[in-house]
Amino acid sequence: MEISGSALIGQRSAQHDEHNVMGSSAFRAVNPVTGAPLEPAFMRTSAQDVALACELAAKAFDTYRETPLEQRAAFLERIAACVLNLGDTLVERCMAETGLPRARIEGERARTIGQLKMFADVVRRGEFLGLRIDPAQPQRTPAPRVDLRLRHIGLGPVAVFGASNFPLAFSVAGGDTAAALAAGCPVVAKAHPAHPGTSELVGRAIQQAVHDCALPDGTFSLVFDDSIGAGVALVENPHIKAVGFTGSRTGGVALMQLAARRSEPIPVYAEMSSINPVLLLPHALAARAEAIGQAFAAALTLGTGQFCTNPGLVLAIDGPDLQRFVDSAAAALGTQPATPMLTAGIHGAYLRGIERLRTQPGVEQAGMGADSSGACAHAGRAALFVTRAEVFAQQAALHEEVFGPASLVVRCPDAQTLHAIVERLEGQLTIALHLDDADHALARTLLPTLERRAGRVLVNGFGTGVEVGHAMVHGGPFPATSDGRSTSVGSLAITRFLRPVSYQDLPDALLPETLRAGNPAGLPRSVDGAPA
Ligand code: NAP
Repeated sequence: MEISGSALIGQRSAQHDEHNVMGSSAFRAVNPVTGAPLEPAFMRTSAQDVALACELAAKAFDTYRETPLEQRAAFLERIAACVLNLGDTLVERCMAETGLPRARIEGERARTIGQLKMFADVVRRGEFLGLRIDPAQPQRTPAPRVDLRLRHIGLGPVAVFGASNFPLAFSVAGGDTAAALAAGCPVVAKAHPAHPGTSELVGRAIQQAVHDCALPDGTFSLVFDDSIGAGVALVENPHIKAVGFTGSRTGGVALMQLAARRSEPIPVYAEMSSINPVLLLPHALAARAEAIGQAFAAALTLGTGQFCTNPGLVLAIDGPDLQRFVDSAAAALGTQPATPMLTAGIHGAYLRGIERLRTQPGVEQAGMGADSSGACAHAGRAALFVTRAEVFAQQAALHEEVFGPASLVVRCPDAQTLHAIVERLEGQLTIALHLDDADHALARTLLPTLERRAGRVLVNGFGTGVEVGHAMVHGGPFPATSDGRSTSVGSLAITRFLRPVSYQDLPDALLPETLRAGNPAGLPRSVDGAPA
C-alpha cells in the first residue's frame, strides 16, 4: 500500500495540494537513527478538513452507535485483520519512523490486534451496556412506581491523539480508538507527527474495515499536523464529545484547559506524567540487592526508557544494602549501549532533564550507560543519580518526570521518612514494592498511601510491561492522568466513552431492543438490582 501523505476524511483522502507539498503546509517524518527525512511529505490538515471530519463523525454517530453488537464486534476484528494484512510494509515503515527494533514493533502490533479483539469480545458480551430495569409498580403505596430502564450509550465523536512512544498500541488503532469504537463512538484521530506514515497505513486499514463492514463514512477519520493547529481545532470542535491523549504534561494540561473553556466542556482522558516509584523494603534489599539492581537496570533501559511506566524514582532506607543495590545497578547500566530515542525533541528534553539532575545541589551521579554517542544522532544514554531524603523533599524539580532511561535513588534515614515522602508524591501510574515475607508488616502500613497515590501497585517487579486485560488499570491521580477514575489500557477503558441514559415509562415498541420486555437481545440485565 502506498503512503500518500493525505488526511483521511471519512472514506476519502483529503485533497493533496501539490503546490503546498513544496511549501510550508507540509512536513516529513524523520528517521531518528539516520536523521534523514522520509518521503512522502504530509499535508497539514486544513481547518476545513478537520471540521468536515468532525461533522461526518457527528452524522455517523446515531447510525454507528445503534449497530447490532455482532456487527460492531466484527468491525473491530476486521480492523485487526486489515492492520495485520499490512504486513511488512507497516513494520518497516514503523521501524524507519521510530528507530525501534523489529521485534518491538511486531510485539506492539500483536498487542494492538489483541486489544481490538478483546474489545470485540467485550462488545459481544454486552455487559458494558449496564442494562438495568426497575419495573413499574402501579399498586405501590403510597405512590405507584414508574417503569425505569437504563442503558449506556457512547458519548459521541471522540478525538484521539496518537502517542509518540507507542506508534501502534497507543496510536491510530490503539487502546483509545478501540475503546471508543467499542463504546459506539466515531473517532477522529490525530496522527503523532513523529510517525505519520505508520499512522496513514493504520488509518487506511481502519478506513478499509469501515467500508467492508458497510458502516457510515464518518465512523473514522485521520488528520495530520506537526504543530498544534489541527489538535486545537479538533478539541474545540463542538461535534467532539471526548478526548483521549497520551503525551506530555504540558500537552495534556493544554488540552484539558481547551476542553474546559468550550461552551460545552468535555472530558479529556490524558495520560501524562509519572515517575513510577520503586520502594525497596529492608529484608528484600538485604537478601538480594544485587539481583534487584540488575533487574532495575534492565527495566530502566527497556525501549530507551521511553515508557510512561519507566522506574524514575527509587526509595529505600539508607545503609550498606542500598549501596549494594546502587553499585549493582550502576555496573549493569555501564554495560548498556545508548540506543536511539524517538525524536530529536524527546532526545533534547532528555538531555535537559539529566542536566537538571546532574547540576542539582545535593544530587550525585552514581552511574551512566556505556558511551556510544557515535552510534546515532539521538541516542539516549542511561543515567542514575542518588540523593538524600531531605534534598528530595525540598526540591520540587526532582519530582518531575525525565522521559528516558534516567532514575533517581533517594536514601531515606528510616521507614517513617520513606512513608512521608511517598505521601507527598504526585499521582503515579504505578508504584512497585520489592519485598520479602518479613517486609509484610511495613508493606501493610504503606499500602493505604500507595493506593491513594497510584493506579497500580505491584510487588517484586517494575511497572513496565502493561498487561492488556480486564483487571488492568493504567491510570492514576493527576498528573499521571487527568482523571484517575479511568484507565487507558484494558477492557475497563470502554467506560470512559459511555454515559447512562434512563428511559421512564416508554412503550415497549419505543425502547431500545436491549431493554424490551422478554429480553429479545438475550443480554445480561439486572431487575430491581439483582441479576435477571
Ligand atoms: P506531546 O508534545 O505532548 O505531543 C503529543 C501530541 O499532542 C502531539 O500530536 C502534539 O501535537 C499534541 N499536542 C501537544 N500539545 C498540544 C497542544 N497544546 N494543543 C494541541 N495539541 C497538542 O508529546 P510527545 O511529542 O510524545 O513527546 C514530548 C514529551 O512528552 C516527551 O519528552 C515526554 O516528556 C512526554 N511523553 C510522556 C509520555 C508518557 O506516557 N508519560 C509519553 C510520551 C511522551 P504536535 O506534536 O503536532 O504539536
